[in-house]
Amino acid sequence: MHAPMHAHVVGAGLAGLSAALRLAERGYAVQLYEAAPQAGGRCRSYFDKRLGVTLDNGNHLVLSGNRATYEYLAAIGAGDQLVGPEDANFPFYDLERGQGFTLTVNRGRLPWWLLRAATRIPGTRAPDYLRAYRLRRAGAEASVADCLPERDSLWRGFFQPLTVAALNTQPHEASARLLWRILAETFLKGGAACKPRIAKQSLAATFVEPALAKIATLGARVRFGARLRRIDCGQTAAERLFFDREVVSLGPSDLVILALPPWNLAGLLPLSDPGLEPRPIVNAHFCLPGDAPLPPEQPILGLLGGTAEWVFARGPVVSLTVSAAESLDAVSQGKLAARLWQDTARALGLSERGSNQSAMPKIRIVREKRATFAATPDAEARRPGPLTRWSNLRLAGDWTDTGLPATIEGAIRSGVKAASAKGACRTASA
Ligand SMILES: Cc1cc2nc3c(=O)[nH]c(=O)nc-3n(C[C@H](O)[C@H](O)[C@H](O)COP(=O)(O)OP(=O)(O)OC[C@H]3O[C@@H](n4cnc5c(N)ncnc54)[C@H](O)[C@@H]3O)c2cc1C
Repeated sequence: MHAPMHAHVVGAGLAGLSAALRLAERGYAVQLYEAAPQAGGRCRSYFDKRLGVTLDNGNHLVLSGNRATYEYLAAIGAGDQLVGPEDANFPFYDLERGQGFTLTVNRGRLPWWLLRAATRIPGTRAPDYLRAYRLRRAGAEASVADCLPERDSLWRGFFQPLTVAALNTQPHEASARLLWRILAETFLKGGAACKPRIAKQSLAATFVEPALAKIATLGARVRFGARLRRIDCGQTAAERLFFDREVVSLGPSDLVILALPPWNLAGLLPLSDPGLEPRPIVNAHFCLPGDAPLPPEQPILGLLGGTAEWVFARGPVVSLTVSAAESLDAVSQGKLAARLWQDTARALGLSERGSNQSAMPKIRIVREKRATFAATPDAEARRPGPLTRWSNLRLAGDWTDTGLPATIEGAIRSGVKAASAKGACRTASA
């Protein structure tokens, strides 16, 4: 019998949880360290005293084609914790034109949905959608706007909102190649791969708590309030980890995975800074009196022509998202609340439902200034893989070279990749 090999995973966001899970499954003795008092990182939930309900830090949408996400959820026993419509339906409300429509992608790979005006975006023709293939041929330097210069209904109702939602970056600076990867893994595989999905109860109940429970059953230990302050590295290997109240000396076969955001790595390691720029996301949460404003089987509504791009409804809680929200930095909370409430009331027809729903209820605005990195062509060229020049030290996180923008799917894949990168994949008994 060999003693188990040790793995130290720093950062309990989805990348760290995914790495910890894969290593624990392979028989490593895993220790997970997290600076915050809770796990989940940028994908977390908390009890909000003002609204009296549990909120997510922000709306998180995944698509049914996000295979690593589904594998992760199956592995932690939370495969049934995502909800959404039976088919790939995306209802939208156009605030500028006062018109609703539903984009409906049929299940198979052949895009029959393009042949029916009722399932397309109003004002578009089937051949317009072939423009998506320009993204496949895009050069490494090309932005989405470079490849798709037409400013027509397809741009306004599909390419522009998809870019902002998936890449959290405005199309004039967003990487065309990254948008192509999203399309290729989801919409271009047909409706079965692009059904919209959200967490049933909360992000914590879907992605975080079951993962902590699962890794605990595999013997992993988790330390909260453990901020990594420094790493001592020799020529070829990391030697010591310095936390606030603890120094961990690394044995010859110990593995370290740093699953931290890029801006938290600076100063910990003598690595060249990838210099990724952050981009904000703003979310606003309202608790509405009366009936749930959207049906439970269709809890998501896209918005065009307003401030926010998405409305999610979970029971009485309505949450709006504004991605790539840098233009809102200077807007006061009061003004922002009024704008977002106006969008909500119009999109959900609240004034028509009676006066008890038309007055602005209490609101919680969450501004995540560093929600994701800016998914530009320049950033794409600078994202590192999991390996470092230290043989026992790996990187994970949505910002590493996953081939995807900063998403749940990218974060989970990065954890799997770091856990199985060459040199880190021996089993405990190997
Ligand atoms: C508001 C918002 C909306 C989003 N919407 C979507 C969406 O709709 N769909 C989607 O797929 N993705 C979405 N994302 C992106 C998604 O949440 C992230 O890509 C993913 O959660 C990143 O996970 P991560 O593990 O790479 O990083 P993080 O979640 O940032 O995890 C890093 C962890 O490391 C910890 N840490 C930092 N420094 C230290 C240290 N020195 N020592 C110890 N611990 C440390 C942090 O506390 C954190 O818990 C959204 C993000 C935000 C913020």
